[in-house]
Amino acid sequence: MRGIAASPGVSHGDAFVILQRELDVPIYEVEDSHRPQEIARFEQAIMTTRHQIAKVRGEVAKRLGEEEAKIFDAHLMVLEDKALIDEVINELEQTGYNIEYCFRSVCERFVEAFSSLQDEYIKERIMDIRDVARRVLDNLMGATGANLAEMTAERIIVSEDISPSDAAQLEQAKVMGVITDAGSRTSHAVIMARSLRIPAVVGLHNASKQIETGDYVLVDGYEGLVIINPTESTLFRYGELKQERQSIQKVFMANATQAATTQDKQTLPVLANIGSLEDCKGLRESGAEGVGLFRTEGLFMQADGFPTEEEQFQVYRQVAESLDPLPVVIRTLDLGGDKYTSAFAYGETEANPFMGFRAIRFCLEHQDVFKEQLRAILRASAHGNVRIMYPMISGLEELLQANAVLEESKEELRKRKAAFDDKTQVGSMIEIPSAAVTADLLAKHCDFFSIGTNDLIQYLLAVDRVNDRIAHLYEPNHPAVLRTLSQIMDAARRAKIPVGVCGEMAADPLYVPLLFGLGATNISASASSLPEIKFLLRQMKLKDAQALAKSVLREADPAAVADKLETFYLTHMEHILGKK
Ligand code: PEP
Ligand code: MG
Repeated sequence: MRGIAASPGVSHGDAFVILQRELDVPIYEVEDSHRPQEIARFEQAIMTTRHQIAKVRGEVAKRLGEEEAKIFDAHLMVLEDKALIDEVINELEQTGYNIEYCFRSVCERFVEAFSSLQDEYIKERIMDIRDVARRVLDNLMGATGANLAEMTAERIIVSEDISPSDAAQLEQAKVMGVITDAGSRTSHAVIMARSLRIPAVVGLHNASKQIETGDYVLVDGYEGLVIINPTESTLFRYGELKQERQSIQKVFMANATQAATTQDKQTLPVLANIGSLEDCKGLRESGAEGVGLFRTEGLFMQADGFPTEEEQFQVYRQVAESLDPLPVVIRTLDLGGDKYTSAFAYGETEANPFMGFRAIRFCLEHQDVFKEQLRAILRASAHGNVRIMYPMISGLEELLQANAVLEESKEELRKRKAAFDDKTQVGSMIEIPSAAVTADLLAKHCDFFSIGTNDLIQYLLAVDRVNDRIAHLYEPNHPAVLRTLSQIMDAARRAKIPVGVCGEMAADPLYVPLLFGLGATNISASASSLPEIKFLLRQMKLKDAQALAKSVLREADPAAVADKLETFYLTHMEHILGKK
């Protein structure tokens, strides 16, 4: 099966299929005399579900700790909720329909009634009900759906899509590879897989239907291939490929910690994207010269609500200290889009989440949450080279508002006599077309720009970054994208402020020369991609990258741009790639 090569690497092993699709719950009438059997079936399903949850709870407690396991206590409580169970039996008596249909109707009514309430606690309970309802229905209908937390051995997971909560478990669960029907290179679960170096192929449309748990599968994350039941000779070939890649990687790694100085003696800064304190491990060895993007959403996606200022401060401080004196750009909360917390996931569904209540929009309305984070970041600035960055700025007014909240946060810290660096630099992400067009205005009110190409491309081209159906239209080589990048970089140059690129384009060695050629002053990408990028930069002249940028800006055809970028890459890397 051919899909999108989303995270490089090859792995093979037993598949573990996670079903997420809506179950087709049948509806049929049950004769009066059969009602006791329906109720017995229901009771049996509840009991089985209870055993399953208790088992998962035990495993999660062992593997991740008591705190993480608590969520399953809430699930068990749903199963013991007499009101819910009585209501289901009542529904059966009233309607005469089969028990799974009655159960689903009652659960939906509960969820609907709760959804209108604004209480965060209740919203969490809605999610518990949904999770539990799914398990009970699976048991009633004998479905084979499974949950990541239930995986006990190393497996390749196969799913329609990976939810943010599944993505957060990728590391702890023994996941060797990821295969999904949906998704694209820039969906957040994929970005996470890449940073964990887990091979992934996405956008396969129907892999979760074709592959069954227990099938032996091979994931080729370089080429975007999935092979079901590979032959011995295929496995042998891939074994060789893996060795070749590893030996080339060794060459890249050998000089990774040295600066990326081009043949014409220009040193180009290369930084890393991280999503947690754990990601700091091994950063310097991979050649990172700081953190250009710390995505803080992960900290906020936990079962027991948002982290406090103090909890955040501890994380930011440790990240800053571990990299000091290198810079660490901490991006304020970018909640929404395909990143959400359980508290916000339900009850507030939006038709267009990527164009909805996301990131800075959320923060400016929830200033308590925003200020807590800003104070935590500011306090960390006393412990290292910390910078602040706002996501999803769409225009000057938002930037000014965010800066005003930052000033208030500083004032609060002054009153508290808490230490912070008053000169902490503040940057704006440029990832919305309106910000790109008004970059000259924004540049006057921030210290640096960082271009988020993942969002910028989706908004410029109106191509949802996580919709596999239109993934082929997500085109970084589109003249609109290249011209916009060039325009942002020109605005930054005129305003004399640095401009980095931290979207996935910056992780792709084909694009990096172009980005520097267009005028980027740094790039930031997942640590695993840095050794090759630095190697490539050392082979080229910045002047040639500038000529490349000029020439692709003249192209009307994305395919011609792709050709030029590939030729540039191969010309500079041939000698090393030839070694394979
Ligand atoms: C981007 O949009 O390019 C970016 C870096 O931010 P995120 O992927 O977190 O939206
Ligand atoms: Mg973004």
